[in-house]
Amino acid sequence: MPFEKSKHPWNYGLTKETDTRVAKYANKLRNVPKTEEHVAKNCASALKRWANPEYRAKMIEIRNKPELRKKRSDSAKKRCTPEWRAKKSASGKIVQNRPEVKAKKSASEKIAQNKPETKAKKSAARRGKISGEDHPNWKGGISKLPYPFDFNKELRKFIHKRDYNTCQLCGKTKEEVTYFCVHHINYDKNDLFELNLISLCNRCNAKVNYNRSVWKDYFIFRVTYGITTSKTEGRS
Ligand SMILES: [Zn+2]
Repeated sequence: MPFEKSKHPWNYGLTKETDTRVAKYANKLRNVPKTEEHVAKNCASALKRWANPEYRAKMIEIRNKPELRKKRSDSAKKRCTPEWRAKKSASGKIVQNRPEVKAKKSASEKIAQNKPETKAKKSAARRGKISGEDHPNWKGGISKLPYPFDFNKELRKFIHKRDYNTCQLCGKTKEEVTYFCVHHINYDKNDLFELNLISLCNRCNAKVNYNRSVWKDYFIFRVTYGITTSKTEGRS
């Protein structure tokens, strides 16, 4: 009797659970380290198979079988322990913090921010919130006005010198701060009277934008009675 090639391969219908030879082979395959070449070859052949519409339809049908879906869902549920979640989250954070990932994210965010629909949405959200004239700090739009011309370098220098080049709120010296300012005590930029001006560092200058009436009284007192040279004096 001549040897006849079987229609099916030797392992047809067998699984690693039911056949020792299949189990042995599966185990062997698992231990073979995957080289890049190997992976590429596998990918290429999978893509080739996937290009066939009949094959694709069949695979999708198998994937969507209710019993298989349930099996996948069950195994996912089993996997999802608190430890597994923590591990996933940690590894995600490592990826998120990579400089190249951050750069990519920031670039795509910028593109999204500049989309007309995003801008329109943002502007719509801002509408109805307090701004401009309704804001407690609104002073008739004077922040848009330019400083009058005599509020020049010389005047600023004079006030700074009078105040010992020291912030009259926190006591830091000109050299210790990022930017040394002259503050208008009554918040009127046009009032350049010497006693309406006081030296502040940039941080304190920002601070006094709130509770204006309280700060006004405080600084009037300070220029009248207590320009100081240091932090400790300023506190007394
Ligand atoms: Zn200060």
